Amino acid sequence: EPTLRIRGLGKSFGGVRALDDVDLTVPAGQVHALLGHNGAGKSTLIKCLGGAYPPDTGTMEIDGTVHTRLSPRESIAAGVAIIFQTLSVVDSLTVAENIFLGQEWTRYGTVHRRAQEEVAAGLLERVAATCSPRDRLGELSMGQRQLVEIAKALSRSASVLVLDEPTAALSGAESDALAARVEHLRTQGLAIVYVTHLLGEVERLADAVTVLRDGRVSHGSTMAGRTRQELVEAVAGAAIAAHGP
Ligand code: ADP
Ligand code: MG
Ligand code: MG
Repeated sequence: EPTLRIRGLGKSFGGVRALDDVDLTVPAGQVHALLGHNGAGKSTLIKCLGGAYPPDTGTMEIDGTVHTRLSPRESIAAGVAIIFQTLSVVDSLTVAENIFLGQEWTRYGTVHRRAQEEVAAGLLERVAATCSPRDRLGELSMGQRQLVEIAKALSRSASVLVLDEPTAALSGAESDALAARVEHLRTQGLAIVYVTHLLGEVERLADAVTVLRDGRVSHGSTMAGRTRQELVEAVAGAAIAAHGP
């Protein structure tokens, strides 16, 4: 059974149907690209998953447990980690302090700084970050900060990783490096939802694609024996239509 299975998700704001009967299934070890123009409903979908909004309809199944709504805390406990474009890491803290910020097991002085730094170093290795646990976050590049946030997600044993336009604030070289890390995280069995408007990133990374338009799925496609290039061609028309001229 897939790690993430969203069924019939609906959400309206006043008269605006931000999401209308949306399905999205992501097995472990797959990268699912979520495409759509501005206002298509991408952020609303991931905010429902992250517990920021209660959906009006539908279900979100995560690791075999079905939820109709989640609080932010429940979303994290269920195994969802969302890396928003505005990162939630704190510049004035060290990398290790950021990774373990707010986590129960560090609260009562039972875990010492050295032990924390060792665990942090292991997590940084998993995301191939080049920073060290004692670096202050404010001194790092955007790319490294983003990796610290992903390491933080791994420390909470996330099984669903959502990346919201992760290359938007990155340089070309940082974007290439991120792509390599996403490839690596895929092999570790995470179910990855990759929100983007760039077909090139779909071609580089995606195992499946869903295009949203006005809150509805306008096109869905999986590789199913195809090459990535063929996958991109299958959705390009829908994606370009969704983006407008
Ligand atoms: P995307 O992330 O694909 O650009 P959004 O999910 O942000 O799209 O928006 C989908 C639609 O829902 C848009 O019409 C947007 O204006 C509306 N919307 C999103 N969030 C809210 C909100 N908090 N209140 C009112 N309308 C919203
Ligand atoms: Mg938007
Ligand atoms: Mg958005």
